[in-house]
Amino acid sequence: MEKIIIAIDGYSSCGKSTFAKAVAAKLGYIFIDTGAMYRAVTLYAMRGGMVEDRERLVAALPEVRIEFRFDPAAGRSDVYLNGENVETEIRRIDVSERVSTVSSIPEVRAKLVAMQQEMGRAKGVVMDGRDIGTVVFPGAELKIFMTADPEVRAERRYRELTAKGERVSMEEIERNIRERDRQDETRAVSPLRRAADAVVLDNSRMTVAEQMAWIDRQLERFA
Ligand code: C5P
Repeated sequence: MEKIIIAIDGYSSCGKSTFAKAVAAKLGYIFIDTGAMYRAVTLYAMRGGMVEDRERLVAALPEVRIEFRFDPAAGRSDVYLNGENVETEIRRIDVSERVSTVSSIPEVRAKLVAMQQEMGRAKGVVMDGRDIGTVVFPGAELKIFMTADPEVRAERRYRELTAKGERVSMEEIERNIRERDRQDETRAVSPLRRAADAVVLDNSRMTVAEQMAWIDRQLERFA
């Protein structure tokens, strides 16, 4: 099979990264979690007290270096902010609460979109985010739009965060998911939207194995 670009977009916490990672592993492709990039910029802004100070954040953007480094021991790529591994920190709920504000800044998007386009230049990538099929790679060979019932998404995120020892309530998570969806869908630049040629995957009641069988069927046309 010739190398293609697989663009996966969709709502918060519907298992995009888990699915994208599994698809990449199956095909021997590179998995790129673009949400991690927006989260890393958000962490940078939080540390510098710049979340509400757009101008200062935009001026500081050239100092923000984001990269992925493969950790062979863990078998995964971690995101680094100016040389520091921030993979764990960026998943905290306080970062989740601010990321949609930072990701609505056009200059932030321009910087990260350019990086993402460069990462996918040689194809053979599975990229997940909100605007991959619409803005980053409008010509992607396979576009998937993922969704799941809000209660299912909140439950999954709750389990994920509490397993890591974070103290959060179900209400906090539900509120955060709802608010991020709203902000991501209504922002002026690259709002979350299903590309006209994207196939929808609603995984509310699907196991990972069932999702893998689904992707096999989608990939048949590239064989
Ligand atoms: O995918 P994840 O939930 O980690 O993404 C965090 C946030 O980053 C999203 O809620 C959204 O505001 C932003 N994002 C984006 N465009 C992308 C990926 C993520 O705006 N391509």
